[in-house]
Amino acid sequence: MKKISLLLSCLLTLCLLNAQPPHVVKHLKITVLSTMLANAGLGEWGFSALVEADGTRILFDTGSHDSTVLKNSRNLKLDLSTVPTLILSHNHDDHTTGWLTLRKYLQSVQSNSLQVTHVAPGFLATRMNADGTEDHHRYQDSIAYAAMKGTLVSHDHFTEIFPGIYLTGPVPRRYPETNYNTRGRYKNNAGEIVEDNIPEDMSLVIRTEEGLVLLSGCGHSGIINNTSYIQAQLHQPIYTAIGGFHLFNTPDDKIQWTAKELKAAGIKYFMGAHCTGIEPVYQIREWAGLKRGDCRVGAVGDVFETGKGFIAAALAR
Ligand SMILES: [Zn+2]
Ligand SMILES: [Zn+2]
Repeated sequence: MKKISLLLSCLLTLCLLNAQPPHVVKHLKITVLSTMLANAGLGEWGFSALVEADGTRILFDTGSHDSTVLKNSRNLKLDLSTVPTLILSHNHDDHTTGWLTLRKYLQSVQSNSLQVTHVAPGFLATRMNADGTEDHHRYQDSIAYAAMKGTLVSHDHFTEIFPGIYLTGPVPRRYPETNYNTRGRYKNNAGEIVEDNIPEDMSLVIRTEEGLVLLSGCGHSGIINNTSYIQAQLHQPIYTAIGGFHLFNTPDDKIQWTAKELKAAGIKYFMGAHCTGIEPVYQIREWAGLKRGDCRVGAVGDVFETGKGFIAAALAR
C-alpha cells in the first residue's frame, strides 16, 4: 500500500512539473487602421487593426480599399513592412481588399512582410451573387497570393498561433445571433447552395495579465457566441472587446441581452468600430454599466494598450 501511494505521489509531482502555466502577453497595443470614423487619415466601411503583443506584430484584416491601410499606417507612423503575419477574419471585401496590394507593396520593402495569412475553412468557398452567378474572388486572390510566395494557413479549431495569442477558428453558433445578411448564399463542401452564415468568421484573442482581449472583424458569428466559446477554452474573463460586431440593426432587446452577457463575461473596455453601429455602443455602455472613456465608438488611429485602456482620437473622446 505504501509503495502504491508513493508511486501515485511521484506521478502527481511529474504531472505538476509538466503542467506549464499559460503564456501571458505583458504589453499589448492595438491600433485601428480602418473603420468608418476617422479623426485624421481615411475613413471607410471596413476594418483593420495592427496588433503589437510584446515582440509579435500581426495585421488583422486589410480594409475595403486597396490603399487605406497603407495610407493610414503611414499617417500614424506605423511600419507595416516588419509585420510578417496577417489574419483575415472572414471573406468579405471590406476586410480583404487590401490583402494583395499590401503584400505586393510591402514585399518590395521586406520579403517576409505579410508572408503568412491565417484564415478558417469557408474563407475560399464560392459565394453566390444576387443574379445567381458564382463569385470566386477569394479563391482567385489565394492563387495570386501563392504566386507572390505567400502561405495561406487554415484553422479548423481553436489554436494558439503565438504564445498567449489565439485564433478561435470557426465559432460554434450556440446562441441565435443572426449578425449577418440572411439573403447571402454560398456553396458548401457538398456542392449545395445554402444560407451563407459566414462559417469561417473567426476572432483573435490575446491573454494578458488583466484578462483576455477579443479582436473581431465583423462578428458575424455573434459576439456572445465568441465570448462564450473563448471562455470555455481559456477559463478567464474577457475584459476587453474591440472591432466590428455587426450590431447596427440589432433590436434593443437583443442589444440589452448582449450587454448583460458581456458584463457577465467580465467586460471593462468595449470599442465598437465598423459594423457595430453607433447607437448600439451607447446602449452597451449603459446596459453593461461602463464608463464613457471605456466604451466608445472606434475611429482610425484609436489605440488600446494594456495598463492604459483606450487612447482615442480626438473625435471619439
Ligand atoms: Zn463581413
Ligand atoms: Zn465588415
